Amino acid sequence: MESAANAPHVQQYQALFSSLNDEQCHDLAHIKRFLERIVGDNTFRAAFAECEDAEAILALARSIGCDIDPLDILPLFHANFLEQKGLPEAIERWPKHHLWTEYIRQLRAHLTTVKEMGGPKEANPKLHRWRLRQIIRTNNQLGYHLGHHIVHPLITFELSDGCSVGCWFCGISAEKFNGYWPYSEENAALWQAIHQQCQTLMGTAMQTGFCYWATDPMDNPDYDKFLMDYYRAHNYLPQTTTAVPLRNIELTRRIMDLYQRYQHITNRFSVLNLKTLKAVHEEFTADEMMGVELVLHNKESTQCKKSNAGRAQEKFNKGSKLKSQVNEGDSTIACVSGFLVNMPKRMISMVTPVAASDVWPNGYRILGERQFTDADDFAKSIQSLVDEHCTNALDPSLPLAFRHDLDLHMYDGEVRSASNARIEHTFESENEKVSAVLADLLPLVAQATYRPGEIIAKLGKAGHNPLLVAGLIDNLFDIAMFEEDPKFLALAEPLQWHHESPEPGASVSSDRFNKSAISNGVQTVGEPPS
Ligand code: SF4
Repeated sequence: MESAANAPHVQQYQALFSSLNDEQCHDLAHIKRFLERIVGDNTFRAAFAECEDAEAILALARSIGCDIDPLDILPLFHANFLEQKGLPEAIERWPKHHLWTEYIRQLRAHLTTVKEMGGPKEANPKLHRWRLRQIIRTNNQLGYHLGHHIVHPLITFELSDGCSVGCWFCGISAEKFNGYWPYSEENAALWQAIHQQCQTLMGTAMQTGFCYWATDPMDNPDYDKFLMDYYRAHNYLPQTTTAVPLRNIELTRRIMDLYQRYQHITNRFSVLNLKTLKAVHEEFTADEMMGVELVLHNKESTQCKKSNAGRAQEKFNKGSKLKSQVNEGDSTIACVSGFLVNMPKRMISMVTPVAASDVWPNGYRILGERQFTDADDFAKSIQSLVDEHCTNALDPSLPLAFRHDLDLHMYDGEVRSASNARIEHTFESENEKVSAVLADLLPLVAQATYRPGEIIAKLGKAGHNPLLVAGLIDNLFDIAMFEEDPKFLALAEPLQWHHESPEPGASVSSDRFNKSAISNGVQTVGEPPS
């Protein structure tokens, strides 16, 4: 089979590393190691605070296998210098701090590209349009800190049943480990055939996929064999995240070697305790760890707060003593907008991230599920989920309602929505006719009572152009203002209007999809955001 071209985000990732010379790569790897210990290790922080001179600081850095001078990167970690980070004088004085901030900026830009260009635009336009709407919704619903960091990969595969690690904070409430899916002749044949189907169904969007969910890759000793098949099918080596990188060092090293060979996306180790952080630093050199991000969940870490979802939310709601380690507010650790495939159970779930709640405790909505028997059946099941859930149109038989997390505010003649994450959207148009329709349309939608056809008829009788009304409803649907989840729609009640500005601190949504879709008003009727 001809290998797929690399998606823009893969090219961007590889270009980032090709642009760095050996010395820069080395410096970045060692800055990374130093920051990991400063953030994740309270004993290291204390030792640093006690250093009396530059020599002692250098010796401390050397003790963790780090050969940069921490005094060269003060704005990255020292409270007295943080405010200078990125300032022109600081760039001149501490050029290595700038090397790091620029590197991180480019890694973030790479994730934005995964999100914005990772969809199946050519291979599956209906699915692509649905995924874009989920991106718009989560940006608005979960806010800039969380929503904008979710990259919405299109597919993930579980290669085990459950997870043996059993983290108390598991945001997707992984079940107990109940065996792995071996790379037997039969399973390998099914796996390869499924990936041929996936290439046809989703094309280069498969270059956003990965092979774990409520599972840990290390629970499957054949994991790297599946990974290589994935690479052969899609010209892409998926990301690996594991919470037990030291359990099977040979397997971990094989995965790290594959990263070195293809360099498609950064891997991650979740660090659950300080002992593991120290052991990882003992086992792997700073340079070997350049392609691995450490997610510091250990309690000594200054960044150890857990997402309020799954088991962590359960602890939070029950007032457990671990509650203080859980963030307040809407949260999720889910990232996929597309398909969650469990290979041992031969089960596909169509999913998308939402704020974890009593309705969806694990932070993702399940739109539909299918059991499959073989690769052909897998393809049919995926397509039937797309056909059922990616109509990209409102159900004419159901009442129209704003999303459950939105409030409406009437302020100074403007109508704005504000999400729980305090992302605001202003309903406005320079076109007088559009403004007049909006003024009558929004209160009707807020009642959560009338079906789309009834609203169009009512506004038609009131003298508005029905085509214009229908077009605006489509626009608002495309920017994910309406509730699409039947579970929440069943609970929808008329919205209370607030006759004042949203709470101070709310920010006007600058999401580019929002702007392009609504500001075009009538002209974009029926057009999807692209
Ligand atoms: S967080 Fe990851 S490693 Fe921990 S229990 Fe959940 S799936 Fe397993």
